[in-house]
Amino acid sequence: MSLTPMKQILDEARKKGYGVGAYNVNNMEQIQAIMAAAQKTKSPVIIQASRGALKYSNFTYLKHLMIAAAEENPNIPLAMHLDHGNSLETVKKAIDLGFTSVMIDGSLMEDGKTASDYDYNARVTRSVVEYSHKYGVTVEGEIGRLGGIEDGVGSGSIHLTDPDQAKKFVDETGLDALAIAIGTSHGAYKFKGAANLAIDVLKKVRALVDIPIVLHGASSVPIELIDKVNKYGGALPGATGVPMASLQEAIKLGVTKINVDTDGRLAVTAAIREVFATKPEKFDPRDYLGPAREALSEIIAGKMKDFGTAGHSDDYKSMSLEDMKKLYGK
Ligand SMILES: [Zn+2]
Repeated sequence: MSLTPMKQILDEARKKGYGVGAYNVNNMEQIQAIMAAAQKTKSPVIIQASRGALKYSNFTYLKHLMIAAAEENPNIPLAMHLDHGNSLETVKKAIDLGFTSVMIDGSLMEDGKTASDYDYNARVTRSVVEYSHKYGVTVEGEIGRLGGIEDGVGSGSIHLTDPDQAKKFVDETGLDALAIAIGTSHGAYKFKGAANLAIDVLKKVRALVDIPIVLHGASSVPIELIDKVNKYGGALPGATGVPMASLQEAIKLGVTKINVDTDGRLAVTAAIREVFATKPEKFDPRDYLGPAREALSEIIAGKMKDFGTAGHSDDYKSMSLEDMKKLYGK
């Protein structure tokens, strides 16, 4: 009944060649929806919270929600991951809360500015690895820059990952999982034209780097969800995402962790809008948060099947952070 180190979940997935979704949360219904999907499809799962989510949920609430998720689902390998940590201080706080994995995003500075300095990224990532591994906690870093929320200076600042630099970064930092930029971006507007992933970059990185690869901004932004949101009064014209077929190809070529946030937001929003539009007499929050929870669970169960995660929750016994500490010590 404890949380699983993310490294174990990713290593097991890599061995068998499937992907594991990492789903963002900030409240109870989202966590319940994801765990219900994991139970239904028998999937190991990564739940992640950004700094914004931790702040929104006042840290302590999220901590106890994830403990509840582990307690209610002892048969499901569950990692709790900090998404886009910006400093060693933030990482320390997440580890204190019980997170079994952290991301250090070296393109973010503590003062909220963005850095594009390799040396800074390598230095801060190395310090996070040294600290986290002492606790058995997994570390994800990033090389290259995505668009969207990380895009501090407007369009044109997406930098695809340089494969040689990726190798150097992994060797110098000793991190466990590497997020790369191959054309995805955060949010609901990922591509101006056709969705295109730089598959050649992924292949080159995979050939040089022997740790799990992470894809951020990997929501598919299904047209049915966009249509539903817009049908019931929303305004999301022209939103586009990464087609599932492209993600499945990326998994085949070596991507193991796939970050999904936008699709969950869309599912929740579509369900709530529908209730508001079709049942205007309803005013009990359960009448719309309940359907939102169901809609979210359904979309995530679909991803667990599409990524190949389904059916793998019983493949292995969860390690503890203590076990992982020993492994790092070797
Ligand atoms: Zn991200």
